[in-house]
Amino acid sequence: MPGGTGRRLVLLNRDLRLHDHPTLHAAGAGGVVAFVLDEELLALPTLGANRLAYLLEALEALREACRGLGGDLVVRRGRLREEVPALAEAVGASELHVTRDVSAFARRRERLLGELCSGSGRTLVLHDGVGIVPPGSLAPAGGDHYKVFTPYWRAWQVSARRRLLPPPRTMAPLPTGLEPGRIPSLAELAGGGRRADPLGRRVARALVAGGASPLRQAGGERAARQRLAAFAARAAAYEADRDDLSRDGTSRLSADLHFGCLSALEVEARVGERSPEYIRQLCWRDFFLSVTHAVPVIARRDYRPRPWRWRRDDDELEAWRRGETGVPLVDAAMHQLEAEGYVHGRARLVAASYLTKTLRHHWREGADHFLRTLTDGDVASNSCNWQWMAGTGNDTRPNRVLNPERQAKRFDPSGRYRARYGTGTGMP
Ligand SMILES: Cc1cc2nc3c(=O)[nH]c(=O)nc-3n(C[C@H](O)[C@H](O)[C@H](O)COP(=O)(O)OP(=O)(O)OC[C@H]3O[C@@H](n4cnc5c(N)ncnc54)[C@H](O)[C@@H]3O)c2cc1C
Repeated sequence: MPGGTGRRLVLLNRDLRLHDHPTLHAAGAGGVVAFVLDEELLALPTLGANRLAYLLEALEALREACRGLGGDLVVRRGRLREEVPALAEAVGASELHVTRDVSAFARRRERLLGELCSGSGRTLVLHDGVGIVPPGSLAPAGGDHYKVFTPYWRAWQVSARRRLLPPPRTMAPLPTGLEPGRIPSLAELAGGGRRADPLGRRVARALVAGGASPLRQAGGERAARQRLAAFAARAAAYEADRDDLSRDGTSRLSADLHFGCLSALEVEARVGERSPEYIRQLCWRDFFLSVTHAVPVIARRDYRPRPWRWRRDDDELEAWRRGETGVPLVDAAMHQLEAEGYVHGRARLVAASYLTKTLRHHWREGADHFLRTLTDGDVASNSCNWQWMAGTGNDTRPNRVLNPERQAKRFDPSGRYRARYGTGTGMP
């Protein structure tokens, strides 16, 4: 793929928005914006129907927004190493612009894109944009990353912020002859389409196993911005309400942040003054991005050594997954997960403590199930929180155990959360 004539190709990943987008902004109005449904990613056993459904909706929404500005979103399905050179060639691109990310998978993808570009005289330009503060930009004296939250939080609060960027006003039409490509439906990807579809076959395993949750959140930038506006208006009550399981007083923006339908920096700017506690939660997200950036294997291996062995009992594990442990708060959390593809943060902690500290199952079993089922399933936040709760992560009190009965008395005193999700349907 020889270097092209000066056009810029933007390859989106989980940065599916127009507002405050450093990569899009750098590529300018003439950039061609593309997304590749990567076969390798679709085949991951931890990619479930909720995340995939959100992704497809976010692509649809982005395409509509691009078309409204005169441009388009190019969508391809296949292997990255084939689709990206073909797109670069068709566009006549001399530069490939990509938002940098932290997981081992993303880092491999960036290396591959670097090789493809250097072999063809093109330039790969990586931009920050996944966190508020770029992962890897804050480090303690004499170390490569902060290992516990509080010193990171102190440094993070006083660290510089880049300026917020406006969305594009116009976008150039696609070069003549470049097809925008179709965005497949979830059913099609699950193998329901008429054509024999090798991608569909591979992705089917995860979808057939779960199916999308009936009450899952709709994806896309427009829906995300509506949620942000609604939350910003009630953010002053966040600190008082956030741990009350029955109130649903949190922002529910985690999936929007995961897919980059919202910029975390913009969320900080819009909510900041109304709720300092909320900003601290956004800092946890940045903290875990920074830990994962420094130690990408955290998704598979213990962050710190553990002097105990995990138990293995498949029936017990399955009962936990199904919400049939007999412990009401744990079961309610798992029913909420199944019904909504979402679990309240406090209930995630209790379900994770029960699996790892009470039953002594490996944190990876729980993390994989969460990642496969949550719409906001995020390698950094999920792995680091599981390890934190299991005692192998960044917690300064690795022996902490949450007693589900005491947690229920404190955070669901009315019993409404347990009643709402007690039946297994998640229907109120
Ligand atoms: C076992 C376990 C697994 C988790 N897995 C994920 C995951 O896969 N994806 C994910 O986004 N979050 C994960 N979290 C973190 C947290 O529970 C969710 O981000 C939060 O509950 C989402 O709901 P919300 O947007 O209403 O949160 P809010 O309370 O409104 O918080 C605002 C935002 O701050 C961030 N945040 C809050 N708490 C945390 C935290 N502990 N760690 C990192 N970021 C945080 C999220 O981006 C969230 O949207 C996990 C937590 C636990 C205990």
